Amino acid sequence: MAGTHECYPGNRPPLLRSEYIPLPLGAVKPIGWLRRQLEVQANGLTGRLEDFWPDLGSNSGWKGGDGESWERGPYYLDGLVPLAYLLDDEELKKKAQVWIEWMLGSQREDGWFGPSKNQDRWPLAVGLKVLTQYQEATGDTRVIELLEKYFRYQKNAPGKSDTDSEWYRVRAMESVLCLYWLHGRTGDDGLLEVVEKVWKNSYDWASWCYYYNFEHNALQMPPEKTHWEHNVNIGMALKYPALWFQMSKAPRHRQAVYEALERLDRFHGQVTGMFSGDEHLSGKRPTRGTELCGVVETMFSLENLISILGDPAFGDRLERIAYNALPGTCTPDFWAHQYDQQANQVLCTVVERAWSSNGPEANIYGLEPNFGCCTANMHQGWPKFVSHLWMATNQGGLAAVAYGPCVVKATVDGGIPVTISEHTEYPFKGSIRFTVETAKKTSFPLAFRIPEWANGTRVRCCSEVFEATPGSFLRMEREWGTGDTVEIEFPMKVRTETRFNGSVSLLRGPLVYSLRIGEYFHRIRGEEPHADWEVYPTSPWNYGLVVDRENPEESVTVSTQEVGEIPFSNEEPAVVLNVEGKRIPYWCLKDNSAADPPESPVDVPGLTERLELVPYGCTRLRVTEFPTVEN
Ligand SMILES: [Zn+2]
Repeated sequence: MAGTHECYPGNRPPLLRSEYIPLPLGAVKPIGWLRRQLEVQANGLTGRLEDFWPDLGSNSGWKGGDGESWERGPYYLDGLVPLAYLLDDEELKKKAQVWIEWMLGSQREDGWFGPSKNQDRWPLAVGLKVLTQYQEATGDTRVIELLEKYFRYQKNAPGKSDTDSEWYRVRAMESVLCLYWLHGRTGDDGLLEVVEKVWKNSYDWASWCYYYNFEHNALQMPPEKTHWEHNVNIGMALKYPALWFQMSKAPRHRQAVYEALERLDRFHGQVTGMFSGDEHLSGKRPTRGTELCGVVETMFSLENLISILGDPAFGDRLERIAYNALPGTCTPDFWAHQYDQQANQVLCTVVERAWSSNGPEANIYGLEPNFGCCTANMHQGWPKFVSHLWMATNQGGLAAVAYGPCVVKATVDGGIPVTISEHTEYPFKGSIRFTVETAKKTSFPLAFRIPEWANGTRVRCCSEVFEATPGSFLRMEREWGTGDTVEIEFPMKVRTETRFNGSVSLLRGPLVYSLRIGEYFHRIRGEEPHADWEVYPTSPWNYGLVVDRENPEESVTVSTQEVGEIPFSNEEPAVVLNVEGKRIPYWCLKDNSAADPPESPVDVPGLTERLELVPYGCTRLRVTEFPTVEN
């Protein structure tokens, strides 16, 4: 039937249809370097955390014990479940199943579920997201029953309850994802009454997008207001007005998302596509922190925003965060992570820094630096990103909304199974080759996101060559059969961005590049592999770049090699940019971070040196926003 995609439920009327419909967990599987990245995660903290971190150990309330009974169990599963099914890793599936069985068995007659010690609806909202992913991968019908029963509870329960934490009132809309998910499957309009109740009783994030004073420093706000500038809340809330838009159909709610992103970029934007938050919004300095929970939650919001609104710009931002901020804040082996990352991060030590409210351990790499939320919540970043690389279009086809090596198996209009293999070393390289397999020749649309930066992209389909417009989706509707190919060549030109205090950053495709600094890891606590580390520089960092902002290609040489076994290792980065620079002797530390980049251009004597810039995600110490110097 034209105009619908019968194979994937998506939203039903009266809800507005999503532009792109997320595919069920397991439809998109990683290959190539992206599979290796997920394997690194499985062999690192995600696969092993339960063995030694008490909050997820056998005493967890989410496994029937009397230990941690709030958000940490569901947070962890929200990453473990998709990781296990994307890798088809039987050991990880078994680990996840223990939690799932306990969760499914915990439901009371009135619909409540989870640890008996917990009376707060916030961790349940995370648990629901875990269960819907698990259901998509396994078809387990018990999940549908649990959701139906829990939402009946929600329908009868008061919108506001004294037993809920403030976090629930801030983040209640998270459960609307699962309300829509269930409505798409059962068509029970009673669920939409629950949606309305949740929206009306939670923080008014749509008004926040329009009326919040983003220029104000977080610390000037009274304490009870700090939820409005809390980086994780904001990362999550970016999708809430859009979710509500599917119900309200009011343009104001769609527009709210754009208003917020524009102001976040203007007053708190970081070069990674994130906004600062250490723990609260804290401005554009490249030494402000960005919390890892904020990174993975913003990614998940962008995955939903591109689905709901179909705007390719959300895909550009998603890639920029996923391929820079996410790997840069974890060690390449995924055994340690930070709480706060910095774009100019030249020293990771236990010491007070100019954070809005985080403690002295916030930028060290470890098991639980500063606070354990990220230790539990970080696992969703990579697997959910992979899961959302492809979506169903609501015209019965498929869309590549973000790029990376993967295989998608899905069903197109008319119920025909299709497999598309995507071979590439993107984002390190710009060529992507898609190969189609179908059970029989069939017509359906394929859509490819053309990033805003990708001027001059060439797309070859069989023997035809297409013009591609940056910042749009290139749609090809034709008859596809086994062996058909599409080749995209994204021009990976080096480009610049002017950043804080007139500094410059170099970008190439979705990757941001940082000075490669010698890194000395000093173990301060714990035993390997899950130890805590300070990182000290073993080479100078205070360089300015000799670069022409308008024509950076003239001052930069690019060398590439195959992506290594460990994709974001500092030893073998897949791309190196060489550029001339000069040391600026008076650019030093301030408050234990790099001082602000001095105003450009800096006039310093002396000879230039040849510098190496590598992908941000390959660095644990880095300078990313540089002053320029005269040659
Ligand atoms: Zn966190």
